[in-house]
Amino acid sequence: MKHILVTGGAGFIGSHTCVELLQNDYSVIIVDNFINSSPEVLDSIHRITKKDFAFYQCDLLDEDNLSRVFQEHSIDAIIHFAGLKAVGESVRQPIRYYFNNVSGTLNLLRQMEQHGVNRLVFSSSATVYGENNPIPYREDMPTGQTTNPYGTTKAMIEQILQDQCKCNSQWGVMLLRYFNPIGAHPSGLIGENPNGIPNNLMPYITQVATGKLPYLNVFGNDYSTSDGTGVRDYIHVCDLARGHVKAVESLFDEGGTKIYNLGTGRGSSVLEVVKTFEQQSGVPIPYQFAPRRAGDLAEYYADASKAERELNWQAEYSLADMCRDSWNFIQKQTPNTTGE
Ligand code: NAD
Ligand code: UDP
Repeated sequence: MKHILVTGGAGFIGSHTCVELLQNDYSVIIVDNFINSSPEVLDSIHRITKKDFAFYQCDLLDEDNLSRVFQEHSIDAIIHFAGLKAVGESVRQPIRYYFNNVSGTLNLLRQMEQHGVNRLVFSSSATVYGENNPIPYREDMPTGQTTNPYGTTKAMIEQILQDQCKCNSQWGVMLLRYFNPIGAHPSGLIGENPNGIPNNLMPYITQVATGKLPYLNVFGNDYSTSDGTGVRDYIHVCDLARGHVKAVESLFDEGGTKIYNLGTGRGSSVLEVVKTFEQQSGVPIPYQFAPRRAGDLAEYYADASKAERELNWQAEYSLADMCRDSWNFIQKQTPNTTGE
């Protein structure tokens, strides 16, 4: 049985991945400081899987505490989700973002080196493709023309990991570039429910659906896309979680850096998401057109063929499934919603 350390395992994507790992008989050790998650998630992971796992409440910036985890477990590989992820906040608080994401990763890498662990899967993002690449994005396209500090932390960490693999052929790293994860576990026990006013489309839509927010602002209706609204590659978080298990399975084959897009390969516009959500939930989503959001691109989606070829993974859930499961999760969180 392989032992996988999951940093940020209480978060949105991390929790779904822990479920998938446990259901595939991996032993899981979670490290999280709950800066953007809560301890109840751990109970939910246990309720879904009926499996035990280790947990450490630990900040990656606290290297002494982190070293305890490495001393107490024999770790085969790490899936590294822990990081701050709000684009707008990263523009306002760049030092905090660089410190948490980059220094946190460096502490983790130093501990790996000290304890002889040399396999890691990293949560990167389609944001590393920047503004100048044609769509669909392919893994061999140039990266680094990022437009905000959050994106730059991802590009920097990708570079650090590639440098490490170049200097030490024993190391094996996978950089997984996620597109737009939405949806939730079909049990409705884990999902995404950010505090405050959401920045991302699906959490915003679900808050409109529950009546917490009056209407959705659709940022831009004059893009050169099918209906003028922005197009993204939305992917079900459970598909993404399964992609991580596939990544871990082939992580031990050989050393070096491998890069994979995790997306569906299909773009959907904002209005298509709204319409699909309305169909799945039966709840109307009032919206109004608002100016374009600064820094947004008109349209991007993945070329997801490399992951299919090399990891034997492809997304299975549809946009309708994603909307249904996001809504199911939110209804379970807030029982008195308009949809019940
Ligand atoms: P999330 O915020 O739900 O999960 C991140 C987890 O990491 C949280 O539980 C948080 O408490 C923890 N964390 C943050 N900093 C930490 C630190 N210093 N020490 C210990 N724990 C810490 O985010 P998510 O959506 O699950 O994203 C997971 C990863 O995937 C992140 O690295 C994110 O940047 C990346 N990613 C996310 C998306 C997305 O749209 N959700 C897209 C591309 C990439
Ligand atoms: N969007 C929107 N209204 C919102 C939030 C997002 O119209 O309240 C649009 C945004 O302009 C983009 C798409 O929805 O075209 C996805 O945005 P999100 O923030 O979810 O992800 P991003 O692709 O920006 O990381």
